[in-house]
Amino acid sequence: MFDDGSVKSEGALKGEGRKHLLGVTKAELATRAVEWGFSPVHVGALWNEVYLKGRRSPGEFAPHDRMPARFLDRVFAEYDFGFLEVAKETHSSDGFTRKYLLALHDAHRIETVLMRYSGRTTACVSSQVGCAMGCVFCATGQMGYTRHLSAAEIVAQALHVDWVLRQTARAAATATSAAVPALAEPSHASPHHRHERLRNIVFMGMGEPLHNYDSVMQAIDILRDGAGLALGAQKISVSTVGVVPGIRRLAAERRPFHLAVSLHGATQEERAALVPAARKWKLDELMDACREYTATLGRRIFFEWTLIEGKNDGADHAHAVGALLKDIPAQVNLIPLNPTLGYDGEPTHQAGARRFQDVLATYGIPCTVRQRRGIDIAAGCGQLALS
Ligand code: SAH
Ligand code: SF4
Repeated sequence: MFDDGSVKSEGALKGEGRKHLLGVTKAELATRAVEWGFSPVHVGALWNEVYLKGRRSPGEFAPHDRMPARFLDRVFAEYDFGFLEVAKETHSSDGFTRKYLLALHDAHRIETVLMRYSGRTTACVSSQVGCAMGCVFCATGQMGYTRHLSAAEIVAQALHVDWVLRQTARAAATATSAAVPALAEPSHASPHHRHERLRNIVFMGMGEPLHNYDSVMQAIDILRDGAGLALGAQKISVSTVGVVPGIRRLAAERRPFHLAVSLHGATQEERAALVPAARKWKLDELMDACREYTATLGRRIFFEWTLIEGKNDGADHAHAVGALLKDIPAQVNLIPLNPTLGYDGEPTHQAGARRFQDVLATYGIPCTVRQRRGIDIAAGCGQLALS
């Protein structure tokens, strides 16, 4: 059912065959620029226009004085450039979450979420159309796998969220646009009404990021570029169902961002019942890879645990998690189940989540309960695309 990841899926936002500008790194474009006979200096200026000023189409560049027109002509002759269309948009009633269904060139749709809690701006992005891993409680898993996203399609999601922040800041500054209502906790009062930047990104949307390793890493490299969105490595989290070769590769390549591993069960049997991918990458093998990761990188791993009432939320389950993680630098994030159409389970109530947390505390394992904010807009991964 699964391959070991790393399908190279560099491509275009519209049409296959040509590369998309959002999917190339600055260094790659600089090499091309020199091949074309231009100074690589122009690439920095181009990055500035795309990633800082938010240009969204070739037409928005001209006339432009910081780069020769011939350079821009060549860039747009070689690369596609455009953004993802919003097919559907929902806002949570608390005003903190916006969810976007974005249309791809082949009419498939993916979800991207903007979250703005306590002043933090975060994009939750998708890495695939659907998912091959089939976790029983997950709406994306219930859809099955369609295809990988290209690096450009991942970068475009982050830029979409940054663009929304730009628009809402502008609306707050002019207070004229009813079309773009301010986000809860309106933008900080900058004298220049500069837009609030996207600061954090989590790969917790649709798909399994380590099944699409190369494109996800390429996108992260582009998003980290200091001349672009300049996202800090500590502001990036990749969440995996437990693709063991991918975790080992992250360690070998010393990737500096956060890693989250979705656990959900603390024995091979219980985990495999919820996460079919666990039959391929067994729990003991996964734990070995996690130990290798934390030892090599000197960093803890975040373990995610979807709390399902009566299924994996008892004190005995919490003790099993404590024992399993006792020799791994870890933090556990509990996520009460978002009910989905294809799975007959209920979320654990608050008291049950607290009991789970208390047991983990006796093992010295830090543990948070993720608030189910935005549940009124079907915030569970894949649920908007299914609606
Ligand atoms: N494929 C990756 C990342 C996307 S899912 C992974 O599985 O880690 C992000 C997180 O949301 C995972 O921990 C996943 O188990 C959890 N999740 C998916 N569907 C959910 C649901 N219906 N309710 C609660 N958590 C869910
Ligand atoms: Fe895929 Fe993650 Fe959903 Fe599992 S939880 S089906 S790995 S997206």
